[in-house]
Amino acid sequence: MNLSIADITALTEIRDSIYGLTKLDFAIYNHICRQLVPSIAEDHLSLIGKEEYNNFIKYGIENSLLRSGISIFKGPMHQYQCFIPVRFGDAVLVLAGTSLYISDKDIEEFFSAKGHGYGLSLQDQKLWVEKISWNDIASISDACNNIQRMVNLFLSDCYEKHTNIEKYRRTMTVIDLLSDIDQDITEEKVFSLLSEIVTLLYKGDTVSVMVRTIDKYVPVLTNGRDKEKVESVPIGSNNVLISDAVNNRRNFICSEPKELMRLGYPEEVRSLHLFPIAVNGKNIILLCVFNTELTREDVDTLSKTGIFIGFILKTIKSQKAYGKHIEDMAALNLATVELSPSFKDTDALFDSIVEISARHMNAEKASIMVPQDDGQELFIKAVKGLNRLIADKIRVKIGEGIAGKVYQEGKAMIVSDIEKNLSKKKRAHYKTGSFVSVPLKIGSETIAVLNLADKVSGEIFSEDDMEFLRSFASYVSIALEGAHYYRMSEHLRTLSITDSLTGLFNRRYFDDRLFEEFQRAVRYKSVFSLAIFDIDDFKIFNDTEGHVAGDDVLKSIANVSKESLRSIDIVARYGGEEFSVIMPLTDHDIAFQVAERLRENIRDLIQLRWEKFPNENITVSIGIATYPKDGKDIRTLIDNADKALYKAKVSGKDRTVVWTESLSEPLKDKPASDKTF
Ligand code: GH3
Ligand code: MG
Ligand code: MG
Repeated sequence: MNLSIADITALTEIRDSIYGLTKLDFAIYNHICRQLVPSIAEDHLSLIGKEEYNNFIKYGIENSLLRSGISIFKGPMHQYQCFIPVRFGDAVLVLAGTSLYISDKDIEEFFSAKGHGYGLSLQDQKLWVEKISWNDIASISDACNNIQRMVNLFLSDCYEKHTNIEKYRRTMTVIDLLSDIDQDITEEKVFSLLSEIVTLLYKGDTVSVMVRTIDKYVPVLTNGRDKEKVESVPIGSNNVLISDAVNNRRNFICSEPKELMRLGYPEEVRSLHLFPIAVNGKNIILLCVFNTELTREDVDTLSKTGIFIGFILKTIKSQKAYGKHIEDMAALNLATVELSPSFKDTDALFDSIVEISARHMNAEKASIMVPQDDGQELFIKAVKGLNRLIADKIRVKIGEGIAGKVYQEGKAMIVSDIEKNLSKKKRAHYKTGSFVSVPLKIGSETIAVLNLADKVSGEIFSEDDMEFLRSFASYVSIALEGAHYYRMSEHLRTLSITDSLTGLFNRRYFDDRLFEEFQRAVRYKSVFSLAIFDIDDFKIFNDTEGHVAGDDVLKSIANVSKESLRSIDIVARYGGEEFSVIMPLTDHDIAFQVAERLRENIRDLIQLRWEKFPNENITVSIGIATYPKDGKDIRTLIDNADKALYKAKVSGKDRTVVWTESLSEPLKDKPASDKTF
């Protein structure tokens, strides 16, 4: 501790007060014998005596400090001189009293031995003898004790003041440094600032900042004397000392050589002061100060600095997270656009999910697993980066393995190292042991598992990756849900337009399509034909072979019709045993040809066997009308096709009749059963 001018002035006053009270005159020195305050009485010795005297003073100061107590030594002039050492903290003062004689004899001895050499006369000797005011060593010691106590008080005061000033300055520097931090500061810069605060302001010998990985804390920044010895030593996070400090957010000092060795430090590390810094929640950073003596107050201030640093790091993290969030949102938006076209087709949707997730997560391999029909095992439905033949062979039992568990529990899983985390051997076709697995759900039901493995960079998957994947999976859920409802509505729509017995379109659908075809033909001035056909003698068939066999006939006719007609034609079950066909862009000649092929196929191809039905074959009669020639509106067209059909029936059945003007005459002999047309 260096005393300031103000302290020296105070010391001069102390010297004067001591003199006033005790008539003892002291010069005041520091621990390296530098005179801070001279004595009141100026030394009147010649140069010859001066050097010897100074050596004696030095001897007195050093020895009194060594003995650490008030010392009285006999000096070169046979005088007695007291030395009062005073210490407080690292501050040291020695008060050296001026020469005292306590008997005439000592003066006489000195004058006879050295008086001449010192240039002193008999007159001087007389004067000295007259000036003797002390003659008792015990009372001098007594006075010195009191003086020591008094000066001690002064010194402790100065020390306190100095340390307080120093603390204030240090704290202000820390505050200045921290409040100087701007918005764009990085984590690395905060770490180096923290390290500088400890090394420069708290005289930290060696300082390390450590961050947490999965199972340990790893030094990310180390400075100081033993940098090389500690920067390569991570600390296991499950060490009792560490976990206790981390869990309770409490700093600790460890100076036990055994404990330090257990933490992995070489013997040069004699002490470790550890400060856990919570960034947010569980996320802890360790500030490690090695081989440094810190006072209780230092520890306190550093702990508080740690809290502040934690706060700054948290802000940086949330800013980063915010930036990442924005990026992820953009990526998700893109993914949305990319997924949308596959909406109607589940296979294509799964392929897109695999493709898009692998791209955004920078993963080489991705797969989607779904359960087999038996509901026991998962198999790979869509895959990227893995040989399809290998992929096809992979089966995972539900509830077992990682994908099996993710499927069963419906919870995502991130694995940074399969061998370490799960004690499982890494499969040969994977580069790294790091992968993620997330459930894909419709509502709360898991319907598939998305697996991603092998980051292109070779790094492990991070919590940030997981965060993105979770958002992606929830979007995928919406897409899957959409696809599911799309399929359901498609199914319902199919049901609503299909005739359940024959699988052909029903009459409702047919009417709609006929209307559309009619409108198109009107707009484009094009033609189309309408055919209506009816099974011949079907009542007899039902009566002789039974209704079930009759149904089989209806189904067979439907199948033969689908095969015999062109892809542009639309065939429907029009009523009980009546069928109708729209033939777009087809005039009556072509329509006749198509109808004849259909009629012949029905007659020749139906494989059913019957016992009592008298006819050799199942046959149909067909009536045709063509727009616009045979009818300018739908109603007329249907009526005319119907009339042509009737004509076919009355002309002997098993034939096709195209409507002609002559058929419009009233039909007198139409049977009652055909009134349905
Ligand atoms: P035509 O040659 O003049 O058409 O004589 P037809 O016996 O076929 O005519 P009719 O209209 O008298 O008989 C139609 C029969 O078709 C009556 C009914 O039993 C049968 N039928 C209608 N719908 C179905 C069905 O869904 N299943 C079965 N098995 N028979 C049906
Ligand atoms: Mg009929
Ligand atoms: Mg019939």
